Amino acid sequence: MREILHIQGGQCGNQIGAKFWEVICAEHGIDSTGRYQGDTDIQLERINVYYNEASSQRYVPRAVLMDLEPGTMDSLRSGPYGQIFRPDNFVFGQSGAGNNWAKGHYTEGAELIDSVLDVVRKEAENCDCLQGFQVCHSLGGGTGSGMGTLLISKIREEYPDRMMLTFSVFPSPKVSDTVVEPYNATLSVHQLVENADECMVLDNEALYDICFRTLKLTTPSFGDLNHLISATMSGVTCCLRFPGQLNSDLRKLAVNLIPFPRLHFFMVGFAPLTSRGSQQYRALSVPELTQQMWDSKNMMCAADPRHGRYLTASAVFRGKMSTKEVDEQMINVQNKNSSYFVEWIPNNVKSTVCDIPPTGLKMASTFIGNSTSIQEMFRRVSEQFTAMFRRKAFLHWYTGEGMDEMEFTEAESNMNDLVSEYQQYQDATADEEGDYFEDEEEEGQEM
Ligand code: GDP
Repeated sequence: MREILHIQGGQCGNQIGAKFWEVICAEHGIDSTGRYQGDTDIQLERINVYYNEASSQRYVPRAVLMDLEPGTMDSLRSGPYGQIFRPDNFVFGQSGAGNNWAKGHYTEGAELIDSVLDVVRKEAENCDCLQGFQVCHSLGGGTGSGMGTLLISKIREEYPDRMMLTFSVFPSPKVSDTVVEPYNATLSVHQLVENADECMVLDNEALYDICFRTLKLTTPSFGDLNHLISATMSGVTCCLRFPGQLNSDLRKLAVNLIPFPRLHFFMVGFAPLTSRGSQQYRALSVPELTQQMWDSKNMMCAADPRHGRYLTASAVFRGKMSTKEVDEQMINVQNKNSSYFVEWIPNNVKSTVCDIPPTGLKMASTFIGNSTSIQEMFRRVSEQFTAMFRRKAFLHWYTGEGMDEMEFTEAESNMNDLVSEYQQYQDATADEEGDYFEDEEEEGQEM
């Protein structure tokens, strides 16, 4: 058994985490009281990856929920699957983090962190062979962002040989609460580069655009954004939850996708895109799924893959379909677009088929790509950061919690270095043998 321990923190983290559990419970035939009501053995074959089996034949999510204020967790508890979680695993404070990373990371969050670690330790001790952790959080606020990354660093210290996967929601002014979000996000990225093994990037900018442009929702709500997120999370974790060979655990996923340790931020795509509560009237064909899955309009990150190159990628097709057709379609995409894949990593695209489709769809596909174009998103955040930091705007909120300006400077350069590293590998060709040519010109920025 290779268990994963799930942790969700802050408002966003708890909201997307709750949706994740609703979706995977449905896929595994687990009802809201934790009882199995499914119809095929495959649903239970690897159930222990995400669930503990309690006596009385109930399945309990291996989940720890944390927040610095009680509100979100209260409403989660009274929501449809609120009773499925272990009551002891709700850890919360009263103070709030006021969208301040420093409060989450250094003051309020630091006070609560030991109670969270106690619960984490208890869950970890109950595991047969824990493979790692997954954390759901936003990077723009204070709790998920500041306290989330504090927890990640503490876990890394205590479990250095376990994997750390994050589902990280990047902020966008299109759906933003506050102006300091680029600060919080940059300080978080600084941490994630060092302490996380793999990060699934969920960019509110892209999620908003998908809702608005593709799904024609004129005023997308968090519920609409989270519908896309939970579909994506289900797709990304499909190979971890159901039997199969490709990317069947967190380490294999990392080995296939990460050629250089710092470059572990993934673009994720999903097809078909559907809005909340809507029905898919026509099942898409394998070629249609493939075409959509690679399309920049289906990426949960506001960056265009055609502005960069893929270092690696992997795809999961779900539902009943021919593996041979999937392989052919995938090869076809690569052959037609060979310039968008670095030639110095042969066979850098892998795909697989999982029999179980997501609930409500006959077929779907999820794409995980390590694309150098993701630098566009980091540049967007970096520009917003720098615009304020140049004038030291809002810094007193952070220094007031004891932070040093130096940490801002370091976070800024770490993220800028990350951008340059992506650029360097984007420009690298097979015959240069390490002699890289760096392009000074910046592409048109997307905001
Ligand atoms: P925290 O509770 O202190 O961690 O703060 P939040 O999670 O509210 O962080 C604010 C950031 O998260 C902003 O960028 C919001 O746009 C985003 N956010 C908050 N709730 C949600 C949500 O349910 N879904 C999505 N996609 N983003 C959210």
